[in-house]
Amino acid sequence: MKEALYWSEEAKGIRCQLCPHHCLILKNQCGLCGQRKNIEGRLMTLNYGVITSKAIDPIEKKPLYHFMPGSKIMSYGSRGCNLSCLFCQNHRIALDKNPPFIRMTPEEIIEEVYQLGLKSVAFTYNEPVVWIEYMMDIADLAKKRNIATVCVTNGFIDLKPLGDLIPYIDAFNVDLKSFSDAFYKNVCRGAKAPVLESIKLISKMSYLEITALIVEQENDQMDELEEMFKWIASIDDNIALHLSRYFPAYKMDHPPTKVETLIQAKKIAQKHLKRVYIGNVPGIQ
Ligand code: SF4
Repeated sequence: MKEALYWSEEAKGIRCQLCPHHCLILKNQCGLCGQRKNIEGRLMTLNYGVITSKAIDPIEKKPLYHFMPGSKIMSYGSRGCNLSCLFCQNHRIALDKNPPFIRMTPEEIIEEVYQLGLKSVAFTYNEPVVWIEYMMDIADLAKKRNIATVCVTNGFIDLKPLGDLIPYIDAFNVDLKSFSDAFYKNVCRGAKAPVLESIKLISKMSYLEITALIVEQENDQMDELEEMFKWIASIDDNIALHLSRYFPAYKMDHPPTKVETLIQAKKIAQKHLKRVYIGNVPGIQ
């Protein structure tokens, strides 16, 4: 365990200031992400050094199509998430209480990446925002070995910690889950506005690609999607957008998104953005 960053004391407990939930955490309780706990009046991280998953992947699988293309990347994930998407593909590590794990120090992570001869490391699988202290410590060591860093995130983070994190990270992929506030609230237990603010800040300070998972019967309305595409283009029409196919997972059992829906969405997106791809559909990009 390590003391967390981004919190303050209040009369009733600790206020976490890492993400827009701003949980008020009473003694011996955790915040909504389950990974930040008030222990004796200090906010402690419970997942520092906790690794639930690791793998070597093509960087295109993150997905990042225009950052170190054709290379392999070492990916690590921990446990916990500050959203609760009903369709979460990684719920066993993101939302379940006690997934199996190993412990690794930041030094061990970087040594492993270096020994494998890889040139980049990704923080992914669960939500790396709730792992920020560990991510920063690893990224700091990565810089010293010329290893690039990638963060695959939901973007649901306060601007102060995000601004502190960005200089450590060479490339981001942010999930923009919908352009509807109601979807963020009802399906993900979050909010859209902070994610848009994160995207704006990252686009100014680092390399960014965006993933939009199109969920059948939920966020597949073309007029709403076009609003999203226009908004991304208003920031930078060079931002690569990945339209990803949903499959039933966790608590959502809608059928998989129709391939025709993705193709239609891509055509509309291409009116506004230069780089649009379909993901999760073999043989179609
Ligand atoms: S990071 Fe976790 S504890 Fe902190 S505000 Fe977000 S959900 Fe709550």
